[in-house]
Amino acid sequence: MDEMRLVVVGAAGRMGRTLVALIGETKGVTLHAAVERPGAEAVGVDAGILAGAGSLGLAVTADLDAALSGADGIIDFTAPATSVALAARASAAGLVHVIGTTGCSAADDAAIARFAADGARIVKSGNMSLGVNLLAGLVELAARALPAGSVDIEIAEMHHRHKVDAPSGTALLLGKAAAAGRGVDLASVEVLSREGQTGARVPGAIGFAALRGGSVIGEHSVIFAADGERLELVHRAEDRSIFARGALSAALWAQGRPAGLYTMQDVLGLAAPRPA
Ligand code: NAD
Repeated sequence: MDEMRLVVVGAAGRMGRTLVALIGETKGVTLHAAVERPGAEAVGVDAGILAGAGSLGLAVTADLDAALSGADGIIDFTAPATSVALAARASAAGLVHVIGTTGCSAADDAAIARFAADGARIVKSGNMSLGVNLLAGLVELAARALPAGSVDIEIAEMHHRHKVDAPSGTALLLGKAAAAGRGVDLASVEVLSREGQTGARVPGAIGFAALRGGSVIGEHSVIFAADGERLELVHRAEDRSIFARGALSAALWAQGRPAGLYTMQDVLGLAAPRPA
């Protein structure tokens, strides 16, 4: 079978550079184009050099139309408005669109779901790693087993100083898993931050705390705190390639599937089967 031609948007970013380097080492995919914002310093620079992977003879471009022409899929770790705009392009051209971008609003997510229903094959996840997606299953299991009346759930995360959204997409993904275990909607129980005279903890709440600093790639702890004991489930990302590897498997998985909105749980075979 021909290799899947992928366009990396946000090619000069932390994830973009990791993806460009990994595509060169991954069977079944090829780098079709590397895209950055118009005016970005990286435009015109060899994408491989930028990624530290040696020259690829492919310059980073700001011309999205040219980049998408002849492509099979888009890998997108950028910003919410960009991801929504790219979902529209993926829908119009029937492309695979892997979205790793976090910080999307409910309106952004609704728009992305509409484009998926309308022809795009979208895989979107706040965390593309195998470890975190397995962790989500363990968190759901623990939340189901431990009584909400006496066990408090808190989610703590730490990321590098450049991260622009909080709580992290992964923390929210884990919060959703905990809420699903308890049979409630996360929105009805979440406490996204605390300060000042907060009053006592509301029973059944799922709380979040976000730390930022240094070069931490991503650490998440889900804490189940009871009287006299505490269970902690932890994931530590040590290398961005875990997310990039997940994104490339998602692209290959989505090729040839019907249009729709999928998650990494679908890609990894961890999701409950969908109704036919
Ligand atoms: P970054 O700031 O280093 O990179 C983002 C890049 O996107 C920048 O180079 C920026 O110029 C580019 N960009 C933005 N808008 C663009 C546009 N319209 N056209 C072309 N390029 C555009 O950020 P990062 O650390 O690489 O993270 C990017 C996103 O991915 C964030 O939302 C982050 O939280 C998320 N992320 C997700 C996962 C996951 O597994 N889902 C893992 C790591 C990071």
